[in-house]
Amino acid sequence: MELLFRDDAYLRSCAATVTQADEDGIRLDRTVFYPTGGGQPGDSGSLILADGGSVAIQEARKGTDHEDVVHIPAPGAPLPNVGDKVTAEIDWERRYRHMRMHTCLHVLSAIVKAPVTGGQVTETKSRLDFNWPEADLTKEAIAEGLNRLIAENHAVVPRWITDQELEAQPDLVRTMSVKPPTGAGHVRLLDIEGVDLQPCGGTHVGATGEIGAVDVTKIENKGRQNRRVNVVLLEP
Ligand SMILES: [Zn+2]
Repeated sequence: MELLFRDDAYLRSCAATVTQADEDGIRLDRTVFYPTGGGQPGDSGSLILADGGSVAIQEARKGTDHEDVVHIPAPGAPLPNVGDKVTAEIDWERRYRHMRMHTCLHVLSAIVKAPVTGGQVTETKSRLDFNWPEADLTKEAIAEGLNRLIAENHAVVPRWITDQELEAQPDLVRTMSVKPPTGAGHVRLLDIEGVDLQPCGGTHVGATGEIGAVDVTKIENKGRQNRRVNVVLLEP
């Protein structure tokens, strides 16, 4: 399955052919639907059929491997037939907020210099959990840092690198906030120029300015070591 969102997160729709359709869900030869994973919800949207009908998709999920996306139809939606030509179209407003929030969490991880232990993206608010017992920043200081890096409009660039290229550049690994998984032959890196570099397979905006103004609503204690930082978008 060709995962078009990996190279262009701004694609809202694509032409595709149905390769499987049953009670487990619908598979296509290519898709713009991002599947639930990495703390980011899977896309919703629809498959538009050649006769003008459509199949509502409530969520895209990961299938058997990282190259496999299963489109889960809404309850009662009709199933297309294998071989049908469809237009796969995501709910763009929702996805774009996920892209802004997800990119914002990368910026957040560059401000709070502590290991990330978890995270969750939603349309309206997001959070990152850190192993950060000293919690030496206030929520106001974090918000100020976030809004400054957002206003500076740093370019956000995904790129692929082979395991060999990575091995040949030990400095690259040192600058990353998360150690990349190797062994698959190549790793997808997300580079926010001058701010953050880490392996990530998610969808992001093209420059930090697109995130818009944000606020940090609270820092919660989650056990002795863990601190949860909650962020909201201030622009629609
Ligand atoms: Zn990411």
